Amino acid sequence: MKTAVIVIDMLNDFVTGRLKCERAKLIVPNLQKLLSIARQNNVPVIYACDAHSEDDFELKLWGPHAMKGTKGAEIIPELKPEKGDYVIEKKTYSAFFGTKLHELLQKIGVKELILTGIHTHVCVQHTAADAFFRGYKVVVVQDCVQAFDEKSHRDSLEYMKTNYGAKIKSSDAVIEEWVSNL
Ligand code: ZN
Repeated sequence: MKTAVIVIDMLNDFVTGRLKCERAKLIVPNLQKLLSIARQNNVPVIYACDAHSEDDFELKLWGPHAMKGTKGAEIIPELKPEKGDYVIEKKTYSAFFGTKLHELLQKIGVKELILTGIHTHVCVQHTAADAFFRGYKVVVVQDCVQAFDEKSHRDSLEYMKTNYGAKIKSSDAVIEEWVSNL
Protein backbone atom coordinates (compact mmCIF):
# COMPACT_ATOMS: atom_id res chain seq x y z
CA MET A 1 0.00 0.00 0.00
CA LYS A 2 1.43 3.36 -0.97
CA THR A 3 2.15 5.50 2.05
CA ALA A 4 3.26 9.08 2.65
CA VAL A 5 4.70 10.76 5.72
CA ILE A 6 2.94 13.91 6.87
CA VAL A 7 5.01 16.26 9.03
CA ILE A 8 2.73 18.64 10.88
CA ASP A 9 3.70 22.10 12.16
CA MET A 10 7.38 21.50 12.95
CA LEU A 11 7.82 25.26 12.66
CA ASN A 12 9.98 27.71 14.60
CA ASP A 13 7.00 29.21 16.45
CA PHE A 14 5.84 25.80 17.71
CA VAL A 15 9.25 24.51 18.71
CA THR A 16 11.24 27.53 19.91
CA GLY A 17 9.03 30.59 19.25
CA ARG A 18 5.68 32.04 20.29
CA LEU A 19 3.94 28.75 21.10
CA LYS A 20 7.06 26.87 22.00
CA CYS A 21 6.75 23.40 23.36
CA GLU A 22 9.79 21.91 25.09
CA ARG A 23 8.54 18.42 24.38
CA ALA A 24 8.55 19.10 20.62
CA LYS A 25 12.35 18.99 20.72
CA LEU A 26 12.21 15.38 21.91
CA ILE A 27 10.95 14.14 18.55
CA VAL A 28 13.39 16.02 16.29
CA PRO A 29 16.11 13.31 16.12
CA ASN A 30 13.49 10.59 15.56
CA LEU A 31 11.95 12.65 12.76
CA GLN A 32 15.32 13.32 11.14
CA LYS A 33 15.95 9.60 10.96
CA LEU A 34 12.43 8.72 9.80
CA LEU A 35 12.41 11.35 7.04
CA SER A 36 15.84 10.47 5.77
CA ILE A 37 14.92 6.77 5.48
CA ALA A 38 11.54 7.69 3.93
CA ARG A 39 13.34 9.62 1.17
CA GLN A 40 15.77 6.75 0.58
CA ASN A 41 12.80 4.43 0.13
CA ASN A 42 10.81 6.78 -2.14
CA VAL A 43 8.13 7.38 0.48
CA PRO A 44 6.74 10.88 -0.19
CA VAL A 45 7.36 13.43 2.58
CA ILE A 46 4.65 16.08 2.89
CA TYR A 47 4.97 19.00 5.29
CA ALA A 48 1.71 20.57 6.47
CA CYS A 49 2.46 23.97 7.94
CA ASP A 50 0.44 26.71 9.55
CA ALA A 51 0.74 29.93 7.53
CA HIS A 52 -1.65 32.35 9.18
CA SER A 53 -3.14 35.66 8.09
CA GLU A 54 -4.21 38.38 10.55
CA ASP A 55 -7.91 37.58 10.11
CA ASP A 56 -7.71 33.81 10.71
CA PHE A 57 -10.33 32.93 13.32
CA GLU A 58 -7.98 30.53 15.08
CA LEU A 59 -5.78 33.43 16.25
CA LYS A 60 -8.52 34.53 18.67
CA LEU A 61 -7.87 31.37 20.62
CA TRP A 62 -4.09 31.03 20.36
CA GLY A 63 -2.87 34.54 19.60
CA PRO A 64 -0.72 35.26 16.56
CA HIS A 65 1.58 32.37 15.60
CA ALA A 66 3.20 31.02 12.43
CA MET A 67 2.24 34.15 10.54
CA LYS A 68 2.70 33.61 6.81
CA GLY A 69 6.03 34.94 5.55
CA THR A 70 7.64 35.27 9.01
CA LYS A 71 10.51 33.30 10.51
CA GLY A 72 8.05 31.77 13.00
CA ALA A 73 6.21 30.09 10.12
CA GLU A 74 9.36 28.48 8.73
CA ILE A 75 10.09 24.78 9.19
CA ILE A 76 12.77 24.33 11.87
CA PRO A 77 16.30 24.19 10.40
CA GLU A 78 16.87 20.61 11.66
CA LEU A 79 14.01 19.34 9.48
CA LYS A 80 14.40 21.44 6.35
CA PRO A 81 12.50 20.00 3.38
CA GLU A 82 14.62 18.41 0.68
CA LYS A 83 14.24 18.17 -3.08
CA GLY A 84 11.13 16.16 -3.94
CA ASP A 85 9.34 16.87 -0.65
CA TYR A 86 5.99 18.68 -0.68
CA VAL A 87 5.04 21.64 1.51
CA ILE A 88 1.38 22.49 2.06
CA GLU A 89 0.21 25.60 3.88
CA LYS A 90 -2.80 25.37 6.16
CA LYS A 91 -4.87 27.84 8.15
CA THR A 92 -6.17 25.70 10.97
CA TYR A 93 -5.55 22.39 12.72
CA SER A 94 -6.29 19.84 10.00
CA ALA A 95 -3.88 19.46 7.09
CA PHE A 96 -6.94 18.77 4.90
CA PHE A 97 -9.09 21.78 5.82
CA GLY A 98 -9.05 24.30 2.96
CA THR A 99 -5.92 22.74 1.39
CA LYS A 100 -5.14 20.65 -1.66
CA LEU A 101 -3.74 17.74 0.39
CA HIS A 102 -6.46 15.27 -0.62
CA GLU A 103 -5.96 16.08 -4.35
CA LEU A 104 -2.20 15.69 -3.98
CA LEU A 105 -2.55 12.30 -2.25
CA GLN A 106 -4.99 11.10 -4.91
CA LYS A 107 -2.63 12.22 -7.65
CA ILE A 108 0.34 10.34 -6.22
CA GLY A 109 -1.79 7.32 -5.28
CA VAL A 110 -1.34 7.39 -1.52
CA LYS A 111 -3.71 5.26 0.59
CA GLU A 112 -2.05 5.35 3.99
CA LEU A 113 -0.79 8.34 5.96
CA ILE A 114 2.00 8.18 8.48
CA LEU A 115 1.34 11.11 10.79
CA THR A 116 4.11 12.94 12.63
CA GLY A 117 4.65 16.36 14.20
CA ILE A 118 2.80 18.44 16.76
CA HIS A 119 0.58 18.51 18.62
CA THR A 120 -0.70 14.98 19.05
CA HIS A 121 -4.05 16.12 20.47
CA VAL A 122 -4.60 19.16 18.21
CA CYS A 123 -3.31 19.26 14.63
CA VAL A 124 -2.28 15.61 14.42
CA GLN A 125 -5.62 14.41 15.81
CA HIS A 126 -7.67 16.69 13.52
CA THR A 127 -5.65 15.58 10.52
CA ALA A 128 -6.20 11.95 11.53
CA ALA A 129 -9.95 12.59 11.69
CA ASP A 130 -10.07 14.16 8.23
CA ALA A 131 -7.87 11.37 6.83
CA PHE A 132 -10.21 8.75 8.30
CA PHE A 133 -13.31 10.52 6.92
CA ARG A 134 -11.72 10.43 3.46
CA GLY A 135 -10.94 6.73 3.63
CA TYR A 136 -7.21 6.79 4.32
CA LYS A 137 -5.53 4.33 6.63
CA VAL A 138 -3.87 6.21 9.47
CA VAL A 139 -0.63 5.41 11.24
CA VAL A 140 0.59 7.65 14.06
CA VAL A 141 4.27 7.41 14.91
CA GLN A 142 4.28 7.61 18.68
CA ASP A 143 7.86 8.83 19.06
CA CYS A 144 7.48 11.37 16.24
CA VAL A 145 4.46 13.22 17.69
CA GLN A 146 4.26 15.26 20.89
CA ALA A 147 1.96 17.49 22.91
CA PHE A 148 2.27 20.07 25.70
CA ASP A 149 1.97 17.33 28.33
CA GLU A 150 2.16 13.56 28.55
CA LYS A 151 -1.52 13.06 29.37
CA SER A 152 -2.78 14.97 26.30
CA HIS A 153 -0.33 13.01 24.18
CA ARG A 154 -1.30 9.58 25.53
CA ASP A 155 -5.07 10.26 25.60
CA SER A 156 -4.99 11.46 22.02
CA LEU A 157 -3.11 8.38 20.78
CA GLU A 158 -5.76 6.25 22.46
CA TYR A 159 -8.56 8.39 20.96
CA MET A 160 -7.19 8.05 17.42
CA LYS A 161 -6.77 4.32 17.87
CA THR A 162 -10.33 3.87 19.10
CA ASN A 163 -12.14 6.28 16.79
CA TYR A 164 -10.14 6.31 13.57
CA GLY A 165 -8.64 2.82 13.68
CA ALA A 166 -5.21 4.45 13.75
CA LYS A 167 -2.25 2.13 14.14
CA ILE A 168 0.14 3.48 16.75
CA LYS A 169 3.69 2.50 15.82
CA SER A 170 7.24 3.34 16.78
CA SER A 171 9.50 4.97 14.20
CA ASP A 172 11.68 1.85 14.31
CA ALA A 173 8.72 -0.33 13.36
CA VAL A 174 7.78 1.98 10.47
CA ILE A 175 11.37 2.06 9.21
CA GLU A 176 11.60 -1.72 9.50
CA GLU A 177 8.54 -2.06 7.22
CA TRP A 178 10.02 0.27 4.61
CA VAL A 179 13.40 -1.37 4.62
CA SER A 180 12.00 -4.88 4.37
CA ASN A 181 9.38 -3.70 1.84
CA LEU A 182 6.43 -5.10 3.77
ZN1 ZN B 1 -2.42 27.72 13.90
